[in-house]
Amino acid sequence: MTEQAADLIILEPIKLPVSIAELGEGPCWDHFTGSLYWVDIPAGRVHRIDSSGDHSFWNVGWPPGAVVPRAHGGLVVAAGVGFVTLDPDTGAVAPLASADPGNRNVRMNDGACDRAGRFYAGTMAYDESPGKGTLYRLEPDHSVTALIGGVGISNGIGWSPDDRLMYYIDSLEYRVDVFDYDLATGEMSQRRPFVSLGSGDVMPDGLAVDSEGSVWVAVWGGGVIQRYSADGRLTGVVRLPAAHVTSCAFGGPGLDQLYITTAAGPGRSAGALFTCAAGVTGLPAYPYQG
Ligand code: ZN
Repeated sequence: MTEQAADLIILEPIKLPVSIAELGEGPCWDHFTGSLYWVDIPAGRVHRIDSSGDHSFWNVGWPPGAVVPRAHGGLVVAAGVGFVTLDPDTGAVAPLASADPGNRNVRMNDGACDRAGRFYAGTMAYDESPGKGTLYRLEPDHSVTALIGGVGISNGIGWSPDDRLMYYIDSLEYRVDVFDYDLATGEMSQRRPFVSLGSGDVMPDGLAVDSEGSVWVAVWGGGVIQRYSADGRLTGVVRLPAAHVTSCAFGGPGLDQLYITTAAGPGRSAGALFTCAAGVTGLPAYPYQG
């Protein structure tokens, strides 16, 4: 863990009364419907809590790594080695695009859309062997572009409030990296370390960016979310009663709640979904524009 600053803010989350996931991941707030979506990867399920608190889930047939709302309605899920659509009204699942057809050794992991509606998601090897993953982009025309090869565990993706920076985590590198980003073209350039954290079984996983430009990083094996200012200083911690903290997303009507997913493992609430008042608003999840 990084050394604590004197003014470090410590937040305590509450556990939500929904099903326990084996590997909860990919929280995503859909502000059109006031719903939170997330996935349980090995269970093959997309989950939702709607604005009335009702919990639903759908089996998608492939391991889902990330789910985003679609501007035309419904959802797009990075699942298996590609992307599928999911209609939450009917449960219908349909293939949309394949990223790595025929590759049975990898699966889609974390993903997110930029403000222009391009869906970024990357793969990892089932056995977590290094260098087998790739970061892909599902373009609005449904074509898929391979962007970065040789990835270990492709994970958290997010953008600064002005869209001029893109954050990206390859967990096996024990770093959050940052690129210069061109929203008009989707060009990523000048990859460099933003923060380094973890070692051994403790590694950065998912991330979320707030309206001040701070980056909230889920620390797998560390039982915490760590908040880093835009200049890379540790300024806040959310402590979870689960070691395997996987990801986080801002949600709620005011986008000021941080939703946190966890996985099975050490901790009395491993696999539960949590929320806490973040004390700051987050950036919204952008829908896929294709
Ligand atoms: Zn992850």
